[in-house]
Amino acid sequence: MTARRALADAVWPDVPSGAVVLVPVGSTEQHGPHLPLDTDTVVAHAVARRAADALPGRALVAPPLAYGASGEHADFPGTVSIGHEALGAVVVELVRSLSLWAGRVVFVNGHGGNTATLDTALVPLRTEGHDVAWTGCGVPGGDAHAGRTETSLMLHLAPERVRLDAAVAGDTRPLAALLSDLVAHGVRAVSPSGVLGDPGGASAQEGGRAMDAMVTSTVRRITAWAVDGRGRLTEAERR
Ligand SMILES: [Zn+2]
Repeated sequence: MTARRALADAVWPDVPSGAVVLVPVGSTEQHGPHLPLDTDTVVAHAVARRAADALPGRALVAPPLAYGASGEHADFPGTVSIGHEALGAVVVELVRSLSLWAGRVVFVNGHGGNTATLDTALVPLRTEGHDVAWTGCGVPGGDAHAGRTETSLMLHLAPERVRLDAAVAGDTRPLAALLSDLVAHGVRAVSPSGVLGDPGGASAQEGGRAMDAMVTSTVRRITAWAVDGRGRLTEAERR
């Protein structure tokens, strides 16, 4: 990212009024025995930075939110969750503060557990008149958690941080089939390793392609700015 895109690198006279500000939202949670706890934050930050570079005009990337709602991973040491209520309060206060000088705020979310919070928090903010929306870092056909998709993304973004020799396959059923067990009993009851999916076959090349697809879709959504009733950016052509 060019330095002028990072809010943390800016000095105040350089901050343009009316800027689009991208806020990456991640988590600090277990990602199996082979991926670091900040995997979701790393991915969301990378998508936001590359999208900001591709957007016309002055888009800024705020420092990422490193904690999210990760209660379903609480049985694993290392996980730190602030829960839906606290995350929602942070999101609300960030938007109210950013709106004093920013034109538009976009949360770029890297963790599935944060989606319900964003859906809930953004609706009243938009009713208050704030120009805010959120978009996710999903990969079509991607697996659920610490599997092939996230392992490939991390092999692309930070290969030195991936412990491939420790990678194991977890429960490979689709997330829809696992969800009720995950919500009722947590991830550990479903997958003792914490992996949902199979890191086998992951590669940096596949991660690079997934990144390109996520960045393209994020740029398209921010440019179209078609916001649905939950505050999510949608693909414009589906409007
Ligand atoms: Zn993740």
